[in-house]
Amino acid sequence: MHNDINKKTILLVEDDDAIADALIYAMQREGWQVQWFSLGLPALGYLQQHQVDFIVLDVGLPDCNGFDLCRQIRQSIQTPLLFLTARNEEVERIIGLEIGADDYCAKPFSPREIISRIRVIWRRSAPVASATTSSIVNTSASTVWACDAEKMQISYYGQQLSLTRYEYRLLEVLLKHPERVWSRAQLMQAAWENPDHSVERTIDTHIKSLRHKLNVINEQEIIITHRGVGYSLRKI
Ligand code: CA
Repeated sequence: MHNDINKKTILLVEDDDAIADALIYAMQREGWQVQWFSLGLPALGYLQQHQVDFIVLDVGLPDCNGFDLCRQIRQSIQTPLLFLTARNEEVERIIGLEIGADDYCAKPFSPREIISRIRVIWRRSAPVASATTSSIVNTSASTVWACDAEKMQISYYGQQLSLTRYEYRLLEVLLKHPERVWSRAQLMQAAWENPDHSVERTIDTHIKSLRHKLNVINEQEIIITHRGVGYSLRKI
C-alpha cells in the first residue's frame, strides 16, 4: 500500500457494505485516504503495522466486539477513535467513552455528521499554537501546565497530552483547584455534561488513564488518591 503521507488516513472498521461505501465516499471527498476493514481482527493487525490518523469503529462486527477491539487498540495506540453503533443506548455510550473512545455515533447517521465529528476531535488534539496558549488559573508561576480551553488542550512539561473529552474535563477541573480533595461525585458533577452518579466508577477509569498519560512525561505522582474520599491534584 503506497500511502500519500500528506493525506490523512482513516481506518474504517464496518461490516455493513452500504454504510461503509457512503462513509468512504464522503471521506475521500474530504481528501482523506480510507483503509476499510469489514472484520475487526485484520484491522487490529493493520494498526499494529501502520499509523493512521483516525479510527472509526463499528461496535457490532462479525468476528469480534468493537468494545473488546477498542480495549486492545488502547493498550498501545492512542489514535482518536469514534464508535459507530446500531443502538443509541446510554450504557453503550458510557462503555465506549470509558474504554477510551473520543466520541460515539448511533446509526442511522449521515456521513456529513461523522466527517464533522472527526474534524472536531482532530481540532481538539491538534498541536497547541503558542499564541493562543494561556496558563491555567491559579498556577501563575507554573510552567508545568498550559491549558487552551478553546481547543480543549492541555500540555504537561511542554508536551501536549492526547486526551479524550472526559480526561480533558477532569484534568481541567483538577487544575483549576490544585490540592482540593474531590469526591468522585463532585468530580462527576463538575466535569460531566450529564452527571450520572450510578457510574461514578467511571471516574476511576479516567483517572487511571490520565495518570498513565502524565507518567509517560514525568514519573512523579501528581494525582493523589484519598482512600475512601476521592482525588486531588498535587500542586507543583
Ligand atoms: Ca455491524
